[in-house]
Amino acid sequence: MKRSAALFALATLTAATIAVPTSWSSPAAKTPKVVVIGIDGAMLSKIQAFDTPALKGLIASGQATRTSLYAQPFAPTLSGPGWATNATGVWPDKHKVKSNSWGTSTDLSRYPDFLTRLERAKPALSTYAIADWTPLTTNSAGQAIFSDEVQRKVTLDGDALGWAQADARIGAEAAAYLKDTGPDASFVYFGDVDIAGHSCGAAGACYRKALEQTDRHIGGLLAAVKARPTYADEEWTFLVTSDHGHTDAGGHGGNTPAERASYVISSAKAVGGAVKNVDIAPTVLAKFGITAAELDGRPIGTASSDPFDAVTLQPRVDETGIPADVLGWSQTTPAGWGIDNSAMGTGGMREWRGWSFTTDDFWTRTHAGQQRESNVRARGVFAVADSDEWSDKTRTGFFNSKLTSPAYDVQGAGKAVISSHYLKSGNEKASVLVSFDGGAAQTVLTYGGDVIAKSERLEVAVPSGASRMTVSWTLTNGDNDWYWAVDGPQVTKLAS
Ligand SMILES: [Zn+2]
Repeated sequence: MKRSAALFALATLTAATIAVPTSWSSPAAKTPKVVVIGIDGAMLSKIQAFDTPALKGLIASGQATRTSLYAQPFAPTLSGPGWATNATGVWPDKHKVKSNSWGTSTDLSRYPDFLTRLERAKPALSTYAIADWTPLTTNSAGQAIFSDEVQRKVTLDGDALGWAQADARIGAEAAAYLKDTGPDASFVYFGDVDIAGHSCGAAGACYRKALEQTDRHIGGLLAAVKARPTYADEEWTFLVTSDHGHTDAGGHGGNTPAERASYVISSAKAVGGAVKNVDIAPTVLAKFGITAAELDGRPIGTASSDPFDAVTLQPRVDETGIPADVLGWSQTTPAGWGIDNSAMGTGGMREWRGWSFTTDDFWTRTHAGQQRESNVRARGVFAVADSDEWSDKTRTGFFNSKLTSPAYDVQGAGKAVISSHYLKSGNEKASVLVSFDGGAAQTVLTYGGDVIAKSERLEVAVPSGASRMTVSWTLTNGDNDWYWAVDGPQVTKLAS
């Protein structure tokens, strides 16, 4: 009796467990719809400061993340590189749009816009792009950023129509098209904010007026979507971004934080690692179940797998030019990591005495225009060995510092792959070393020259019988010789 009762209970539990995920916990899937809104030259700090109820509503239901773009010589903070980056999901060294008149020598065919990728992956999807800066949708400056494979493209010429007028027409036309046709994925662009920035500066009254007017256009788009008869069966996601910022006096193209400033607003909350502008395209693709491994970005909400992101940052100490509220730096390693400064010189800037952990926002403020802004493939917190900044205060001796990983399990692996996100070196010696089971370290890579924004992948042969491998990054003989930045180290076991 007892035994059969137990069996009965077990069977009931099993049946219930099978039934839950299929019929109870997933409601009928809603049809995904995505609208990416581009506001040329708009700044998140101004959106937050001005009367912008539509954008603030999107932020309240979802999130807004401040981001930062590159600077020269990687690419200028101009519309061409900015929109190409937002549309393609790769950085300018891949899409090769590096100015506002890029001609035919780009790689936009290899790295197409997200609407074109959707059309190719799922031709049944409907796509839509509308813009008044003509290079976005026509070949007026070179190959159009949004290709002719987009199902419906509408171009208004802001220069010919007047930008405020052109934006108003975009607002009206896009609202009608979203309401009546409801394309699966859209790009809707407004240009007048940037024109205002050039006219009166980001601190000027005309910039505020243009941004608040653009917010009303966006409010019209949101209302149009909600008025669709099928709205209840649809899941609309709005993403908003810009191509660059503006100085208070007006203008962009340079390397100041204001010019490099961008953001990603998402109407959906997504907890994950740091967001970059290259994440917009993969986020749109992911809504339709499409992945593209060759992109630099990843869907917003992807968790960080970078051990450095766990480091707690501090405010400046010797870097007195950096505002005290900009975090930061730290020489406290994540658990299991180590920094060996036993051969390090003395004195110098305390933040950079040996390997340190920092962010783009803090590190690029140390000295603009020295290619720290090119570190685009780092994300969140990364590690830096910067003998140049260290030398900006009296010091003796040389920069000799070693960053060492925890012991990774490589048992049974034929090879281990070390990937590190970004590497750049000057005249000092930058090397990667490995050690198995506490044995002698062997050098697996030494850089002979500059390496800009490279995702490194090193295959290391694992000796038979070895079970643990540690990895070290050493910067030696640094004598005011630039820097090396490393991010997202991972070790993967390969069978052979
Ligand atoms: Zn501009």
